[in-house]
Amino acid sequence: MFELPLRLRRDADALVANWRALARLSGTAACGAAIKADGYGLGAAWVAETLAAAGCRDFFVATWAEAAALAPLQLPNLSVFHGVRDEDMELALSGIATPVLNTARQAARWRGAVGRACHVMLDTGMNRLGLGEDDLAAGALDGLAIDTLMSHLASADEDSAQNSEQRGRFVAMTEKVAAQRLSLANSAGIALGSDYAFSLTRPGLALYGGVPRPELAGVIAQVAFPEAQVLQCRTVRAGEAVGYNATWIAPADTEVAILNYGYADGYFRGFSGRGAALLGDAVLPLLGRVSMDLIAIDVTGYDVAEGDWLTIDFALPRAAAQSGMSQYELLTGMGSRFDRVG
Ligand SMILES: *Cc1c(COP(=O)(O)O)cnc(C)c1O
Repeated sequence: MFELPLRLRRDADALVANWRALARLSGTAACGAAIKADGYGLGAAWVAETLAAAGCRDFFVATWAEAAALAPLQLPNLSVFHGVRDEDMELALSGIATPVLNTARQAARWRGAVGRACHVMLDTGMNRLGLGEDDLAAGALDGLAIDTLMSHLASADEDSAQNSEQRGRFVAMTEKVAAQRLSLANSAGIALGSDYAFSLTRPGLALYGGVPRPELAGVIAQVAFPEAQVLQCRTVRAGEAVGYNATWIAPADTEVAILNYGYADGYFRGFSGRGAALLGDAVLPLLGRVSMDLIAIDVTGYDVAEGDWLTIDFALPRAAAQSGMSQYELLTGMGSRFDRVG
């Protein structure tokens, strides 16, 4: 098969270890997996198959198109966060996944699909998706067979009073509606403690190596490792410049490797002059600006040749600090020009 000059090495053992760690922190609650946006850029089918084999039962995508792509896997419980529009009903009634109803109109639409279970999103103060107190009072959920009542935390990655406020509203609202299960916590919510776990947790980011709160540092392992091939090696003489706008000038003769990796692959321009490649224990600095498809790396003193592969330093907490992007954006921005391996 034709090999691309860029690959994403995925560590299945780390993915499973992260899920197990989050499941442990979830206590008696079941631990699911958010696999929307193609499994945060790692490949939703790969993530789902790996975690299903490890015992994960509850999977969440954003849209019915994402659910349809996963239908052949026959996952135990696949749910669609964005509910059901009219345009979704045919797919939804085919039974490939369960909708998370977000509005009174969606609830009314689903009530027509007699007997089939649903989930419901409650808005507890984020003012994004979900039904509010008024909808409950107006009977929007009457007569529905609700599997899981859920809500979403807006500030779980911070020590914010909003967390306990949302939790309190969630408890009050769920007391008025019958359901099999309750679910509030995303990755950061799991780290807030067992009060936030209820009966089902829904981590995404931390499964994939993201560390949204300090409690998860040392618990969560890196899963995604971009590896780029060296397209050219050159000696840049002292005083010569490298890359667009000549932002890096060689202070001394420097051995430079040009790698097939750039901002079109999600290695955003914020890494310019700050990112690095890794060779064993060595940290090799990025020189100058990130181009669309190329970066320059200082390999002085190392045995690096055209055709070699270097791992890019993509440990998410550090990469976010270097680039000014969020850990979520770094994962989901990786783009489609990788060979995914592992
Ligand atoms: C994306 C998402 C999650 C997962 O959130 P992370 O912060 O990635 O753990 C959980 N619940 C809902 C409703 C989501 O949209």
